[in-house]
Amino acid sequence: MATDPADLLRQRGIQITAQRLAVLRAVAGQPHITADEVAEVVRAHIGAISLQSVYDALGVLVAEGLIRRIQPSGSAARFEDRVGDNHHHLICRICGRLVDIDCAVGSTPCLTAADDMGYEIDEAEIAYWGRCPDCLAQSRASSRADPPTRRRRSQRRIARTEGPNDPVRDGKENLPE
Ligand SMILES: [Zn+2]
Ligand SMILES: [Zn+2]
Repeated sequence: MATDPADLLRQRGIQITAQRLAVLRAVAGQPHITADEVAEVVRAHIGAISLQSVYDALGVLVAEGLIRRIQPSGSAARFEDRVGDNHHHLICRICGRLVDIDCAVGSTPCLTAADDMGYEIDEAEIAYWGRCPDCLAQSRASSRADPPTRRRRSQRRIARTEGPNDPVRDGKENLPE
């Protein structure tokens, strides 16, 4: 795979513009970058660019498969140029830090659904949610200093995991009457 951004665009037949090149470079230089961060990096390199132009360039690059868009529930979309390997993500509930994680076993075992319902599956998007080592250490340190932790807050966090992207727990729910 060519690493020069201009070659990548050329190979896909995408019109090369300074903005697309700068956006692709920004994503390659900082995995899991947000659109706002891309805009900042691009402005530092080529000058003024509107957020809308950044979104447009990101949209083209995602559509052409050069970058991947990740949308963790409750936070801004992130973009990365590590595509096509079906890797997953670990996300910290507290600080939002997001890191790559390879498939649990083998190359792409998550593509083998228990029942594919007749679909041709080409991607499995898995997000592991939890607390990163830093936030874990911080909460341990503060629970030593504080009286017992507040239950309500942790229950709200658990509720946040139930979003529209949740896998269907019971296939019957989606069957027509
Ligand atoms: Zn954290
Ligand atoms: Zn990633």
